This record gives sequence, structure tokens and C-alpha cells, in this order.
Amino acid sequence: MSKPFWADGLRFSCTRCSACCRQEPGLVLLSASDLVRLMRHTGLAFRVFLDKFTRSVDMGNGWSISLTEKPGYDCVFWDGGCTVYQARPVQCSTYPFWPGILDSERDWLSEAHECPGIGRGTVIDGAEIARRLEARMSNKPILLDYTFRWETVDEDTVLGRTGVLAHADHAGRT
Ligand code: SF4
Repeated sequence: MSKPFWADGLRFSCTRCSACCRQEPGLVLLSASDLVRLMRHTGLAFRVFLDKFTRSVDMGNGWSISLTEKPGYDCVFWDGGCTVYQARPVQCSTYPFWPGILDSERDWLSEAHECPGIGRGTVIDGAEIARRLEARMSNKPILLDYTFRWETVDEDTVLGRTGVLAHADHAGRT
């Protein structure tokens, strides 16, 4: 099997333009470890956190949990910068090293139209890219069966089965 186009590294340096955090509607889907980490970071209980910062999203085969947005589509945690940076979701911390974007060089170069950090700055080596890609892929968004209602779903249902509460400190952050 031939090695991926990114195996020898890719240039990326975030310019902090905030284009991926603001001004356009989007989904920031939470994994179980994301949710636990953010609850701890904000000091909020499960239901309080859910009602204040998240919404349910119909994925076609169940529903997931996304961060909400402010009016104007800024991320709910954006306030002149990311206010939960140390605890930010894996979706955020691994961008732009995502499946889809890394499928081909063409996809990578196409994403540069959205992200000015792509193609500039220091080279992120192949091992680090592989690590971020794995972190992204192993932190799947929560997906709940339609039988669970958003209004009444509880912490045990969302997190209890995963065992993530015991392992959240070692979750796949970058
Ligand atoms: S769009 Fe790219 S350069 Fe801009 S904040 Fe996001 S990751 Fe950084």
C-alpha cells in the first residue's frame, strides 16, 4: 500500500483568524470524552451543561450532541478567543487533520480556501498528523437512539455505558 500524501509532513500554522469558530453555522459534535472534559472545565452538572451550551442534532440514524452558537453563528464558547481552549472538543483540536481533508492532496489544498493556516508555517510531521487523525477517529460523536428524548435524557444514558468518566483525563486531546 502506498504511503499517504501527508506521510512526510504538511505545513500548517494556525493564524487564529477564527474562521473555523465564528460567523458561519456549523456543528461541533461532542464525543463522550469531550462532554466530560467540558463539564469538568465549566464546573457544570450534566443537565445544566446540556441545556446551556448544547443542542441535539438529528443524524439520520440517531441523534448527536452539538455545541450551540450565538446569534451571528459564533461558537457558544467564543468570546474574543476560545474560552474553553484547554478543554476544547477533539473536533476542534485536531482540525484540519481530519478524514476527508486528508483523503487526498486535492482535498487538503481545497480546505486551504477555508483555512489560511494550511500550507504555511512549520511542518507538522507525519507521526503527529497520524496521531491527530487517530484522535479524531477514535473520539466518535455521541450517537443516541431515537427512543431517548432530549428533554429527559440523563447522564447515565449518555455517558454511563462508555466508562469514559473513569478515563476522561486521558481522552484524545491534541
Ligand atoms: S480557520 Fe485555520 S487558521 Fe483560522 S483559526 Fe481555524 S485553524 Fe486557525
